[in-house]
Amino acid sequence: EESADRQTERKVVAVVGGGLVGALNACYFAKRGFQVEVFENREDIRKAKIVKGRSINLALSHRGRQALKRVGMEEKIVSKGIPMHARMIHSLTGKQSPIPYGKKGQYILSVDRANLNKELLTEAETYPNTNLNFDHKLQDWSAETGLMTFVRSDGSSNQVQADLIVGCDGAFSAIRKQFLRRSRFNYSQTYIPHGYMELTMPPIDGEFAMKPGFLHIWPRNTFMMIALPNLDKTFTCTLFMPFDEFEKITTGDEVIHFFQNYFPDAIPLIGVDALKRDYFRLPAQAMVSVKCSPYHIGDKCVLMGDAAHAIVPFYGQGMNAGFEDCIVFDEIMEQLNEDFSAVLPEYTRVRVPDDHAIADLAMYNYVEMRAHVNSKWFIFRKHVDNVLHLLMPKTIIPLYTMVTFTRTRYHQAVERWHWQDKVINRGLLLGAAGAAVGGAYLLAKNPPDVGKLVGPAEKMWDRILALKTP
Ligand code: FAD
Repeated sequence: EESADRQTERKVVAVVGGGLVGALNACYFAKRGFQVEVFENREDIRKAKIVKGRSINLALSHRGRQALKRVGMEEKIVSKGIPMHARMIHSLTGKQSPIPYGKKGQYILSVDRANLNKELLTEAETYPNTNLNFDHKLQDWSAETGLMTFVRSDGSSNQVQADLIVGCDGAFSAIRKQFLRRSRFNYSQTYIPHGYMELTMPPIDGEFAMKPGFLHIWPRNTFMMIALPNLDKTFTCTLFMPFDEFEKITTGDEVIHFFQNYFPDAIPLIGVDALKRDYFRLPAQAMVSVKCSPYHIGDKCVLMGDAAHAIVPFYGQGMNAGFEDCIVFDEIMEQLNEDFSAVLPEYTRVRVPDDHAIADLAMYNYVEMRAHVNSKWFIFRKHVDNVLHLLMPKTIIPLYTMVTFTRTRYHQAVERWHWQDKVINRGLLLGAAGAAVGGAYLLAKNPPDVGKLVGPAEKMWDRILALKTP
């Protein structure tokens, strides 16, 4: 039994934002025994009818799963996820070819964002030392005193004090605004020219309209569409395209014409009428990449999740990285005995290079996913990487595998990738050179009409020199 004394001693942790990362983080702090107060701008999404928000479903992978596991939530979430073992590439002619994500048995999971958020809020509430305060919008706060001001939808406002403020209020974080006023705070934000739009592909005769065990991709260089399966046998299709292009399409017929040109196989699956209607339901949404450092102010405040690092969604790592933030912070809390004045700077030191690395990788994949998957060289190199990984599983690990199926620190995964790439490309070059030398030897023994060979040989050499890393 806890004495009144201990309860008043108990430190208050305010988690601002009850989205995916905030709700999970609340569990982490509650588990450590802090008095946790979550402040969320929205109404309780478990009661609200319409849940506004970004993407309907998300790809959950190893890092996110590990973070859920530590608060006993992994099974609950995984059991409602749909495994996706491979990308399914749709060509213009409608041909479908799978490219596995990893080895046999490795997969990512399509999970429902709203359900995940609800489950995490419910889990946080099971701790008696946690309060969820909905309809509380952080308006302002002081880094000196830790005093926060919240406004409510009825116009009232209240002030709250906390020992530690954890900013989990997303890409447009209100907590982060105070950081921007401070000296030596680095900040950059970049909007990419692409927007995204979600379209639903309904079931056909009560079954999935396409194979559900895959993340379907229609790569069209400047455009791209992807589709992830849902438990109700629908697919959520996301169309990524430059805003200019979105705006060019102004009528239902133009939508169909556009789909006929680029995604003809999807038209009957989404449905002509639905396409004509849903394209205009909501405007395309913007995507922003935010990088900053440090992630903390003194011993008072720390940023996590999208508030610290909004990344473009092309590596499927935004939430996973935010969930991993919670593990990393928790581990440092353990090492440094929950001393905020030591934990916060250490968290910045450890985590900034990794979150910056995944931000860069996501931006890199922005091009890779829509363009490179169409290139023969890219597909060839994926196969080479996978074969080498099978032969030398400890030496060569594909980048995607390190990012998605391990907890290798993001920045180390990038370093290793650059090294592997150099080694593999050199190996391929040596192999090609070896073949050329062998060929020359055979030719010397058996001289043919040289004139006939110069052209093809030159071409081959041009090819080798033109081989650039993807
Ligand atoms: P959010 O989910 O944005 O939550 C922030 C919360 O803070 C919200 O509930 C908001 O209401 C609240 N809030 C905001 N301001 C205030 C305030 N002033 N006061 C109080 N509360 C406030 N990630 C993946 O891992 N895999 C994927 O496949 C994937 N796909 C994506 C697809 C798209 C199209 C997009 C846009 C993102 C995708 N992501 C994916 C990224 C993922 O959505 C984010 O990384 C994740 O939602 C971050 O969680 P968060 O809790 O930090 O922020």
